[in-house]
Amino acid sequence: MKVLLCEDDIDQAQVIVRHLENLFCQVEHAAHGDAAQAILAERQFDVVLTDWLMPGCTGTELVQYVRHCDKYKQHYTYVIMVTALSNACSIDEAMQAGVDDYIEKPIRRSSLKARLKAAQRITHLHQALRAKNEELAALNAAAQQEARHDVLTGLPNRRRMLEEMRGVSAITSRHQTTYTVVMCDIDHFKGYNDTYGHAAGDTVIRDVAQKLKRSLRASDKVFRYGGEEFLILLYAQDDASTHHTLDRLRLSICDLHIPHSGSTHQRVTISLGATPLQHNEAPQRAIKRADEALYEAKSKGRNTFHIVKGTPIDLEKLSERLI
Ligand code: GH3
Ligand code: MG
Ligand code: MG
Ligand code: MG
Repeated sequence: MKVLLCEDDIDQAQVIVRHLENLFCQVEHAAHGDAAQAILAERQFDVVLTDWLMPGCTGTELVQYVRHCDKYKQHYTYVIMVTALSNACSIDEAMQAGVDDYIEKPIRRSSLKARLKAAQRITHLHQALRAKNEELAALNAAAQQEARHDVLTGLPNRRRMLEEMRGVSAITSRHQTTYTVVMCDIDHFKGYNDTYGHAAGDTVIRDVAQKLKRSLRASDKVFRYGGEEFLILLYAQDDASTHHTLDRLRLSICDLHIPHSGSTHQRVTISLGATPLQHNEAPQRAIKRADEALYEAKSKGRNTFHIVKGTPIDLEKLSERLI
């Protein structure tokens, strides 16, 4: 055990240091309270054995320092007050200040040994408790992460999406930044599963998810909404750039060239519906509008996109390619 002894009487200090070393402790000695505080600010100890009255800060002040210092909140330090005063008031005061135990002068080796045993028990318990707390915190963080991510694609899920959208709509209203909500759906996917099997369908969902993610900017976000549907949040795009982004996303999936015999284009395609997230708007309202836009895109023949409540499309700037 690492022990800091704070004792201004050099003769007594020598005796106590000898006792402690005989009890296999690693000892450092400070000749007054201020020196002890400086050492404690630099290094950690399992036990502080401190005199009550001494030059500089008192034993009580030293204990208060240990109990309030952030560093010592992580590492429990057992404090034993050494006192010549056996009156109950000083003991009460020391205990109030955060002392764990006290020992009366002159110190006998056997009583020091007994107290160090108690110190060891308590510091070990604190260490075990801290390790358990860290383990629980890590498990909790992992559970939080798991609860907010989709197992198949690794994308954040609908729960995370709602949290994000609530945050985003608050920022939107405060700073007037614009977000576009995009609902994206794989075309004729039931047919894909029927032809190629559910496992192959899972692979397609994963590939589409990765492609969408890679095709977006870091400030945009993609979530697995459910089934073969993804919700995308585009950050700060004007009407023209939204059109280009949606068309780019559509083409990025075409360019994967995933064969799909049941599709008009003989490959897997997506349709997208988009709408601006309005200031102070509830996420569900914007999602509903994006869903209606998606429905429009589907009825236009799929492998396309539709935007509601946007300014007119500049068709000149759009890609000529349909596939
Ligand atoms: P549309 O072009 O109108 O979107 O037609 P669709 O066939 O894609 O739409 P529908 O809603 O009829 O079918 C969606 C299909 O997606 C049915 C369902 O089995 C499949 N699906 C949903 N989730 C998963 C999944 O996790 N894995 C696989 N393989 N298929 C899924
Ligand atoms: Mg003294
Ligand atoms: Mg669907
Ligand atoms: Mg679909």
